[in-house]
Parts: sequence; structure tokens; C-alpha cells
Amino acid sequence: MAGRILIVDAVATNRILMKVKLAEACHTVAQAADARGALSLARSLRPDVILLDEWLPDAPGTTLCRALRADPATRAIPVLITVEPDDPAALQRGLAAGADAVLAKPVDGLLLHARLRNLLRVGAESEFALREDDGGGGDADNLPALVALLSHRPDEAPRWRAALGPLTPHRLAVLSRAEALADDTGPVPEVFVIGADPADPGAALRLLAELRSRPASRHAALCLGLPPSAAGIAATAFDLGADDVLTLPLDASDLALRLAPMLRRKRRADRLRASVRDGMRASVRDPLTGLFNRRYALPQLMRLTDRAAASGQPFAVLALDLDRFKAVNDRWGHAAGDAVLVEVAQRLADGLRPSDLLARIGGEEFLVLLPSTPLERARALAERLCRRVDEAPVLLPQGAGRVPVTISIGLAQGGGGTGAPSGPQTGEAGAARLLARADRALFAAKAAGRNKVTVEVDDAA
Ligand code: GH3
Ligand code: MG
Ligand code: MG
Repeated sequence: MAGRILIVDAVATNRILMKVKLAEACHTVAQAADARGALSLARSLRPDVILLDEWLPDAPGTTLCRALRADPATRAIPVLITVEPDDPAALQRGLAAGADAVLAKPVDGLLLHARLRNLLRVGAESEFALREDDGGGGDADNLPALVALLSHRPDEAPRWRAALGPLTPHRLAVLSRAEALADDTGPVPEVFVIGADPADPGAALRLLAELRSRPASRHAALCLGLPPSAAGIAATAFDLGADDVLTLPLDASDLALRLAPMLRRKRRADRLRASVRDGMRASVRDPLTGLFNRRYALPQLMRLTDRAAASGQPFAVLALDLDRFKAVNDRWGHAAGDAVLVEVAQRLADGLRPSDLLARIGGEEFLVLLPSTPLERARALAERLCRRVDEAPVLLPQGAGRVPVTISIGLAQGGGGTGAPSGPQTGEAGAARLLARADRALFAAKAAGRNKVTVEVDDAA
């Protein structure tokens, strides 16, 4: 997985070496030699990851990191800070400045590539969302999370909890492997911290992969603690879905700091996923009634005709239209007309089965698809819908009035046992023909006095 990486380093040779390393993995690379240049490039290029050295000529890398975090245009971009080796305070400095990771030089190539792949994967999950729109979670980013602690040794995770408790606002839960993988146990932790068994570090990798693949935990942040003897599998851990890897024995203040960037990335991905979901929902729904819209319903009708042609199962299509609705608007006003539409939509929905599909396909026109329904059942159901709408006037909000309302329904039968009318039975043409038949039946219902169901039987017309 290749991305756009911004390298920030004062030393040209370092930049070139890093560029070669990153180009091997097909990343696109931009370069800056100081904090000023980096900030302006980050704003204009919006790289996927920024890799910056702590020592820059015009400002410390940590200051640059804080500036990136403070700017809505760049705050979501993951930042990796490279630091001098043997500087034990560097990790704390970097994480406190908002970095996603702090890497001691010389940076291990394998590990760097694995970590970049992981960061790019999290970004790509939200490919459809505009990163520009993510203004950050504000206070939501600071809400306490549920953090699960897992270790192969029964006494270890409780010790972590005792040490970590005073250092973080998060709720800490000690879980067994079985509890972490159980599907139905209450709130799902937002973060899992897994300590590997030095005798069998592979078990922790398997648990990591398992959590990453389960619906309940696949979007959680996963942090793996490895004993120094197993440091070699860190790159594999990132590729299996770890968001961070730390060295055991666990340093509680180190972990407390690492939780922040993991949670920030996790919650950002959650928000972007939700916005994609909302967008998809909005594109198939009618905003007034919340019913499916025409754009969604017509392909469903096509799918239903195709399936029925293959299975021979009968189904029915209902075209519904409010009677004399123009008069309702004329007398009560457009807002009252809207309220009537909402109420009628609700009555129709209440009268249908979960497998039926109800859509608003025009101003005061609805479509109902009744899968696996023979003619007589469909007719009875349609007549029940007519009665549900007719049986009581719609009460306007704030006692503004009582509006009597009726609906006419045209029914067309499709699928097996309908005498196999000639012409296309499937695809767009088959669906359009069925809709036209239902519309003709609706027209007949209107002509016959309204508030009734008419069935289209003769397809030859
Ligand atoms: P018929 O029984 O023949 O169907 O008579 P009708 O008055 O319902 O038929 P017509 O198609 O002439 O009028 C439909 C009216 O529905 C016209 C329009 O003002 C109204 N309408 C369409 N969409 C909306 C809407 O979203 N809100 C409101 N309030 N009215 C709408
Ligand atoms: Mg109409
Ligand atoms: Mg009408």
C-alpha cells in the first residue's frame, strides 16, 4: 500500500537515504529541510504520513508536531518522529507533542515499512470521506475509553491496571483471551493491550489477527507488548493489524501516553466510517418520510423480477397515489400536506411485513414490492393498506385540523403463475413493464372512484 510521505530532515543525505528507502515501497515522497517549509508543504500537499526528525534548524520537531496538531488542515495526518538513540526521554517528549510514534535512529527499514502500511491502511479505510472535512473530534477525542488489558500470566494484567490507573482517565478492564473473543459481552473495548508470552509470542499474534477479523473488535485499537527477545516480530505485528508495539516489561507512563494517538486515530476512523454510512443512507432515503427513494426502489424491483423469473415465485408490485391531494394542499397548506405524507407513510409501513419494500417514488406516490406473494394475498394486503389510510383522518400538529385522506392502489402481479404475458420478463425492461402495468391499474382505480385497489390482469393492452 503506497502513500504520500513528507520527509522533514535538516540533513540532505538523510533525506535522500530515506527517500530511497520509501521509494522502494513505491511511496511518493516530498521533502522539507526545516519546520517552516514542512508546515507549508503539509498544508498544501496533505501527505498521508509525516516523518520528521526531532532536530530541525528553526524549531524542535516536537514544536512542529504541536503546530501540525493545532491546524485543522493537518491535525489528522499521522506524524512519526525520529530521535537520537539512547535518549530515554525522547519517547515521552514526542508522544506528549502529539506524535503517533517515536522511532530511534537508525530506523529499522522493515519495521518502518510495516508501520507505514498500518497507518496507510487506517487512512484508506475512510477513502470515501473527505479528510478536509474532519475537523477533529473536539471533546469526543478526550472522552474516557474502555481499555482491555490481556496477558498470558494471570497476575500481570492486574499489575498493569494498578500502575496505569492513576496515569489515565480511561477505564481499565482485565480480560482473558476467551473474554476478549466472546461475541456478546457488553461494551466492546476501544483499545486492547496484549502482552505476549516470551515462550510463545506467536500466540499473541494469532490473538491480534483474530481480534482484527471479528466484527465486534475489528475497529478497535490494538497494542502489542513484546518481550525484547521477540522484538523481531514487531513488523509482522503491524502487518497483522497492530496499531502500536511496545517493549515489555510494560512502562505504565509510556503506555498512558501511547493511548492518546491510538485513540485519536481510532475515533477519527470511526467518525469517517459513520459519515460514509450517513451519506450512503441519505442517498437511498427520502428525507421527508425516511422511506426508501425511487433511486433505491427501482433496482430492487429489477432484482425482484430477475429472481422471480429464475425461481418461478409469484410477487406483486403496488403503485399507490394519494387521492385528491392537491385539494389537501390548497385547503390546509403545503406544510400540512407534508405532515399528511409523513403520517400516510407511517400507516403504510405499519401495514407491511418486514420482507416487503416501501418507497416514496414521487411527490405523493409510493411503491410497494411484495416478494413471494400470490395474487389473492397481495390483493388482501393492498386492500388492508387502503383501509388503514382511510379509517381515521390525519391529525395535524398543534390541533390545526383533521384531514380525511384516502389512497388508490394499482396492483400488478409478476413471476410464476401469472399466465406468462409476452415481452421481456427480466432486467430493466421487465421491471419497467411491471411498473407500467401497476400504473395502469392505479389509473383504473382512480377512474373507478378512488380509495380502492385495482388489479392489472391483461398484459396485452
Ligand atoms: P388524484 O386523486 O387524481 O391523484 O388527485 P391529486 O390531486 O392527488 O393529483 P395531482 O397529481 O393533480 O396532484 C398531486 C399534488 O401533490 C400536487 C402537489 O401539490 C402535491 N404534492 C406533490 N409532492 C408534494 C410534497 O412533497 N408535499 C406536499 N405538501 N404536496 C405535494
Ligand atoms: Mg400523483
Ligand atoms: Mg394524487
